[in-house]
Amino acid sequence: MYWDKDLETMPGEALAAVQLERLQGTLQQAGKSPHYRKVFADRGIEPGKIRHLEDIRQLPFTTKEDLRAQFPYGLLSVDLKEVVRLHSSSGTTGRATVVFHNQKDIENWADLVSRCMYMTGVRQDDVFQNLTGYGLFTGGLGFHYGGERLGALTIPSGTGNTKRQILLMQQFGTTVIHLIPSYAMRLMQVMEELGVDPAVDLRLRIAFLGAEPHSEEVRQRVEGYFGVAAYNSYGLSEMNGPGVAFECPEKRGMHIWEDAFLVEIVDPKTLEPVETGQEGELVLTTLQREAMPIIRYRTSDLARILPGPCPCGRTHSRLARIMGRTDDMLIIKGVNIFPIQVEQTLMEIPEVGQNYLILLEKADGMDSMRIQVEVRSEIFEEDMRYLKGLEQKITRELRNELLITPKVELVQPNTLPRSQGKAVRVEDRRNA
Ligand code: AMP
Ligand code: ZN
Repeated sequence: MYWDKDLETMPGEALAAVQLERLQGTLQQAGKSPHYRKVFADRGIEPGKIRHLEDIRQLPFTTKEDLRAQFPYGLLSVDLKEVVRLHSSSGTTGRATVVFHNQKDIENWADLVSRCMYMTGVRQDDVFQNLTGYGLFTGGLGFHYGGERLGALTIPSGTGNTKRQILLMQQFGTTVIHLIPSYAMRLMQVMEELGVDPAVDLRLRIAFLGAEPHSEEVRQRVEGYFGVAAYNSYGLSEMNGPGVAFECPEKRGMHIWEDAFLVEIVDPKTLEPVETGQEGELVLTTLQREAMPIIRYRTSDLARILPGPCPCGRTHSRLARIMGRTDDMLIIKGVNIFPIQVEQTLMEIPEVGQNYLILLEKADGMDSMRIQVEVRSEIFEEDMRYLKGLEQKITRELRNELLITPKVELVQPNTLPRSQGKAVRVEDRRNA
């Protein structure tokens, strides 16, 4: 049941002791990088004087802007000759942020990912198909190394070519898949079109959904259609990638591996810690990384720690499902809206298909929201009255959730644009 029982079930105090020791090591290590050497010197911080975990609050946050300003090597804490890998985050604006790893970092990362996979029941005799981008994106190689380390047959099928993906599943009897939720929805649609019935034609039993926000409703669709148990996987390139927090079989929150990451949740405005259990911005410090330790990284992700122990016996805290980022929030007619609210509402409506797009527009100087919704193809065989009725029903449900009335447009399946990697859910045309 456990990949590393001692570590996963370690009592709180012992875990805190491990964290403190690793934090002290991390600060020493970070001090070797040009960036943190300067940060420590400017603020008169002596890493050796950090005696308690709370002392971390004396250190400044690290932001994406810091990583960009230090591009490419400013946060490197080892000689370049020791570095074996780099990854980059999927951000589409500004300079990329790059993260470096040495051999030990790669091994520790693989170990974390295999710990996650094992926790959900993956074993050596599983066939694991990794349907995510290989390359700078961390989901590909991150899960690949995790699968191999666990000893599962790992198929690096990458993204795209959906028919071939299905063929691979059939030929090798794939039992476990990893994919981003928007691609899971696409895969579902293609299988439906091809008449593939997962219950009969495939042997899937577990799916990992990660790398983008998705709702409980999407999980349920994936579980229902593929006949799998689907687990939420959270990570970010700056903290390796996948393997930061992951659901256990209880599926009530994601255990965040506190032997590898120090967790803080702060109010994004005041930057002060929030009360336990309150939502705030997730701030993480690497506790194991050698090539590029990162201290107090502001993830921009809005997170909340679930109270109480988990029935699975693991002592590492649990993060509630991450519904969005501080920069995801839309303000329309004075109302704050997160795109995930739209998804939650839409995916509860059975007639709704697998894709949607939120368009922000300006009409007569006022912001407005239009939502294009793919519906099941059979629906277009119905008459206009039926279609109008459905449109009204969807509008009503969205108004109840969002408190503004969006304009809803029903569209045929496969008509909305699909991105190569993570889904783009919002198109802002207000300044176009
Ligand atoms: P990247 O480093 O480019 O892979 O992007 C990492 C970001 O993806 C995180 O900071 C989150 O905003 C988002 N993300 C990753 N996994 C999840 C998840 N399971 N749920 C919600 N958002 C996620
Ligand atoms: Zn658990």
